[in-house]
Formats: sequence, structure tokens, C-alpha cells
Amino acid sequence: MKRLNYSSAFCVLLFLVFPIITHGQDTWKENLEKGAATTEKNHLNVPFVKPDNWKTPYTTPGNWPIFENRGPIDRSPKNKTSKVLVMGTGDPTPNPYRYGPSMAVIVNGYPYFVDCGEGWWRALTHAVLTQDAIDLPTVFSLPNLKYMFLTHLHEDHTVGLPSFISNPYKFGKGGDKKVFGPEGIDEMIRHINAAWSLDRHEMAQGSIGQAPDGSTAVGIPIWPKTELEGRKIFEDDNVIVEAFPTKHGFLEHTYAYRFTTKTDGRIFAFGGDGTYSPGLVSAAKGADILFVEGITRKNINFATWGGDTEKEKVEVIGAYHMFPDRLKKVYDESGVKKIVMVHVQNYNSPENFDRLDVLNEMIEEGIKNILLAQDGDLY
Ligand SMILES: [Zn+2]
Ligand SMILES: [Zn+2]
Repeated sequence: MKRLNYSSAFCVLLFLVFPIITHGQDTWKENLEKGAATTEKNHLNVPFVKPDNWKTPYTTPGNWPIFENRGPIDRSPKNKTSKVLVMGTGDPTPNPYRYGPSMAVIVNGYPYFVDCGEGWWRALTHAVLTQDAIDLPTVFSLPNLKYMFLTHLHEDHTVGLPSFISNPYKFGKGGDKKVFGPEGIDEMIRHINAAWSLDRHEMAQGSIGQAPDGSTAVGIPIWPKTELEGRKIFEDDNVIVEAFPTKHGFLEHTYAYRFTTKTDGRIFAFGGDGTYSPGLVSAAKGADILFVEGITRKNINFATWGGDTEKEKVEVIGAYHMFPDRLKKVYDESGVKKIVMVHVQNYNSPENFDRLDVLNEMIEEGIKNILLAQDGDLY
């Protein structure tokens, strides 16, 4: 490992600049811009130790801060009150600058969460502190953290569940949480409740003084199966949620969700992980936005998993994830108005890495209306 000169130079610079910043002469926006300019191509402005071996899950160029190209922005239509907040755009690759898969549909100031990836609880704060287009501290008031919809039960989409259940409770508000998901979600929630029962009982006896049964969560399996035309699994005053079967590797039950908002009629589809499937096409039929994963085909030989040869990788990874030609098929057959890509698996060598590569592959494939999301974006 060798440390880049500019990271130490940056530390020196920080000491020089810091007193000026604290004297309050600059706005926070100006400070952010200055920070971005301090380190070449690195808007995050963090020190970077360039790895000698970039072919591990930790060191893959997609994780490098110098390749993060922007912060969160508001891309939602101003005349619509229902929004989707992208909280985490990560995937199993341990990128420290992206939270695990998680999103929130916000209707009437109330959140409905889709997937619960790594760092879920922190992703809320990240959004609150970086996105001011809506009043997120109020949207995320503790009793509102109630409904969760899981596309599938892979670890990277569910590992935030213990936080979802227990962390608000430590701040005084647990409540009865409802977690919708594929068959097995009831077992998963039961095991999480059991695994952290020691924590709950300590809270009851200790300084926090919460009742041990004050934070309950139930897993509600979408059972026995969904149909191609979808199945309504939830409705309240704000939204209707329908589930559709998708195809993701060898998992038997994986779902896409279609949210129809009652306030302004926006339709959001969430594909979760997976390759082309007729169920995903149904979920996205005429929707305003499909939030979906994407993976490079062009640079698949740089993938850190899926076999040794390109042929193996295409076969193995292709059974799990969305190559450009398959997303084009979903786009064409569904007539969805816009695609927003999350959970993007972008592989390449450091010399040729570009954060926009997978987006460009999708555009080259003929998908016209497509965007690449960043944590904290609003749609
Ligand atoms: Zn995933
Ligand atoms: Zn998955």
C-alpha cells in the first residue's frame, strides 16, 4: 500500500483552512465546494490510500472515493408531493461511501420503506443532513418508522433489520413494525427478535427504562405466491402496494413492488435485484419510475465474483443480475416512463474506471430515459 502525496497535503491544508471556516465567513455551500476542489476528482474530500491490488472486494475501483462523482440532488417534479428518497444505492461490495439498498416512498409526509440494507439507520441521517427539498426530520419522526417492504431476503437487502427494529427503541419509540416480504420473512423477524432479546431486556432494566415488549416487529409473508398480474398486499389512506414475482438467481420467492400513491397518482415500481422477468414488466407497466439494478456487460470480466472466465461470469452473474440488453427489454415491454438505476455493479480497471460506465452502456443499448442514483437523491 502506498499513500498518495495529496492526502497528506490535504491534511496540512485542512489545518490551514480550518480556522478560516470556523470564523463563519463562508456559507456551508461554499465550504463544500472548496472541499471538493481540495482533492483532485474527489468530491468527498477524504484521504485515499491507493491499493496495490485492486482485485479484492475491498479494493475494487468502484469503492474508491476518487471515483464518487457527486452528492445527492433533488430530481423530483416540483408539482408532485409524493416522492421517492433513495437512501442507499450500494450492493454487497463493501463500498464505504454508499449505504446498502434502501429507499423510501414518501406520501403525505409518511414513509414506506423498500429494502433494509447495511447502515439503514445511518442512511436516514445521511439523507436528513444532505437533502433539504422536503422536511425529512418530520417524515422520519420515530413513530413513522413502521412499514418495510422487502424485495427479497438476501443479506445485503435485510441486514439493516435489527437496526430498523431496535435503534428507534433506544431513543424512546419502538412501536409495532410490520415487515412485508417473501416467504421466510416471519422466521427471519422472529429470529432477529430472539437474537436481540438480551438487548431489549437490558434496556428494560437499565437506564433507558423501556418495556421489553415495547419494540415489536412482525414479518408478514406474501404467501403463498404472487401472480403475473400482481397481487395487492397493502393499502391505507396514502398508497396501494402490489407485489409481482421476479427472477433473481436461485431464490424461489423474489418480488417487485408497485406503489400507487393516492394523493397525486404517481406510480413507482421497485424491481429489487434480478434479471428480466415478465413479472417485473407487469410491475413497471406504464409506471412513472422503475427503480432497478444494473450491471455491466462490457466489463464483466473485471467482476470480483462469478467464476474465472468471462463465459462463466456471464452465465453465473447473468442468472442474478440485469445486463443492459435485458433492461432494454423491460423498458420496451413495460413502457415505463423513466428508469432510475440503483445497486449498480460497475467493474473496470482503475485506469479506465468511470462512475457513469454502466449508465452509458444502458443508454447505448437504447434506453432513452434513464438516470443513475446517488444516496440521498429525491425522485
Ligand atoms: Zn442485492
Ligand atoms: Zn440479491
